Amino acid sequence: MISFNVPPFTGKEFDYMHEAVTNHKICGDGPFTKKCNEWLEKRFNAQKVMLTTSGSSALDMSAILCELNPGDEVILPSFTFSSTANSFVLAGARLIFVDIRPDTMNIDEMKIEPAITERTKVIVPVHYAGVACEMDTIMDIAQKYKLKVVEDAAQGVMSTYKGKSLGTIGDFGCFSFHETKNYSMGEGGAIVINKQKYIEKAEILREKGTNRSQFYRGQVAKYNWVDFGDSYLQSDLNAAYLWAQLEMADEINDNRLAIWNRYYNELNCLYEDGLIDLPIIPPECEHNAHMFYIKLRSLEERAEFIKFMKDAGVMCVFHYVPLHSAPAGLKFGRFHGEDAFTTCESDKLVRLPLYYKLSKDDQYFIISKVKEFFLNTSKSNEK
Ligand SMILES: *Cc1c(COP(=O)(O)O)cnc(C)c1O
Repeated sequence: MISFNVPPFTGKEFDYMHEAVTNHKICGDGPFTKKCNEWLEKRFNAQKVMLTTSGSSALDMSAILCELNPGDEVILPSFTFSSTANSFVLAGARLIFVDIRPDTMNIDEMKIEPAITERTKVIVPVHYAGVACEMDTIMDIAQKYKLKVVEDAAQGVMSTYKGKSLGTIGDFGCFSFHETKNYSMGEGGAIVINKQKYIEKAEILREKGTNRSQFYRGQVAKYNWVDFGDSYLQSDLNAAYLWAQLEMADEINDNRLAIWNRYYNELNCLYEDGLIDLPIIPPECEHNAHMFYIKLRSLEERAEFIKFMKDAGVMCVFHYVPLHSAPAGLKFGRFHGEDAFTTCESDKLVRLPLYYKLSKDDQYFIISKVKEFFLNTSKSNEK
């Protein structure tokens, strides 16, 4: 059986976690959290990065820092994970879903402006599969209408848009280090803060509403409850696990890209025969091989494909059921404009196994099975 995902593990994780335990420092903001934050800031040229308990909690923090009022509107794609939407529901906003582009499955930047009303406050581009949204256009719209931009870069760690790291372009960026993401600590994430004015507020929000961060830096004599807050900092044990992977970030990225490219090249013949669609990477985007998906011709064919692969011992999965048609989506938002691509493109998409150290043998087996499926279906079509 070939799993769909295996969490990344480099070998050094146990050493670092052991170190955290023997140094009696396992709560939040310990030495490993600091190392991870600094690495992410330096590598991505970010003002401020803070690890959080999840990508979802980084989105929660961002939504709270946007200071929304009940009835304010947030524009986001419907083709995304529920977390993107939940955070803005929590912050009291109404969700305005707009259509995606069929090439990248990202929010269609041309559909944003028509959806803006006097209540619109935030745009949330989701960098699907670690491939950037059209950020220049999105930032221009945000500037024109004085909107905030929260990048859901949960899948975009190590990806760039015109040379800029994803997560560092909007007001806030959100990373995920869930076990299904490229770099992991089991459950975890990070918020990227790209404007100086939010940093102090974010530190207070993350530390239960106290100014403990300033206290640790010696800026205040004692710490106090100064504003509304919550607890968004993860254990240093989790950061120790993540640190082992950040140290090898390039090797992990290269390994994933090699797997991605092998899928792409090997399956190109099916694309040329008009049997599948392959992912499209715009020239201004450098991606991180977060996922490899193909698109089949229909929902029915996709179901047959997943079953065929499963019977062959290969786990393939699909996502997402568009949020605007889900029960909570109907409750908390509405779709603006025409659903030309969101539903029909998501119905056709299926993800193939892709994880750090997926072996070549396993990958060639997966590729052979994908080809076999289409050989069988084209034969049965001829009958
Ligand atoms: C994974 C993911 C999240 C949530 O991250 P968690 O760390 O699991 O909370 C949010 N948005 C997108 C697009 C994701 O893929």
